[in-house]
Amino acid sequence: MEKVFITNRPSQTRKLGAVFAKEVLGRRDFSVGGGKRAIVIGLAGDLGSGKTTFLQGFARGLGIKEKILSPTFVLMKKFPINRERFFYHMDCYRIQKPKDILALNFKEIVADHRNVIVIEWADLIKKILPRGSVWIKFEFINNTKRKIAVLK
Ligand code: ADP
Ligand code: MG
Repeated sequence: MEKVFITNRPSQTRKLGAVFAKEVLGRRDFSVGGGKRAIVIGLAGDLGSGKTTFLQGFARGLGIKEKILSPTFVLMKKFPINRERFFYHMDCYRIQKPKDILALNFKEIVADHRNVIVIEWADLIKKILPRGSVWIKFEFINNTKRKIAVLK
């Protein structure tokens, strides 16, 4: 499945993220292994293409109040969604090799079906992303316009 969206300002990208978050939370077919493992969403696209902006809306859609920042020097940040579910925001921009992510207990986090994991610069760890991950590709069209394609 591929769905393509065009947004014309940052608030539209955030809104799309929020709507998408609500949708994936309720759907087993968005998880790895048909509901047996985590929801893994890889974001790809150049610097400034809107990945973090989308994530800010996505976290809001999960009910997270904390503001999502670009974790420039932080590889991974964990946020509670509710008493038993967690949202993980990862950014692979600065990793040297995919193995660096495994050192963060990536496999264990993916194994837990309650987790929601979103990874910026996921193309840099394509090798270790589980089959069944969702891909979202961001493209810069002009100053205010972005193309956002969701593939699953
Ligand atoms: P990335 O995480 O991909 O590097 P960011 O979300 O941090 O990108 O930055 C996107 C930048 O582009 C922000 O400064 C944002 O205000 C701007 N922008 C302009 N139009 C849009 C749009 N339609 N969607 C998302 N961001 C936009
Ligand atoms: Mg970013």
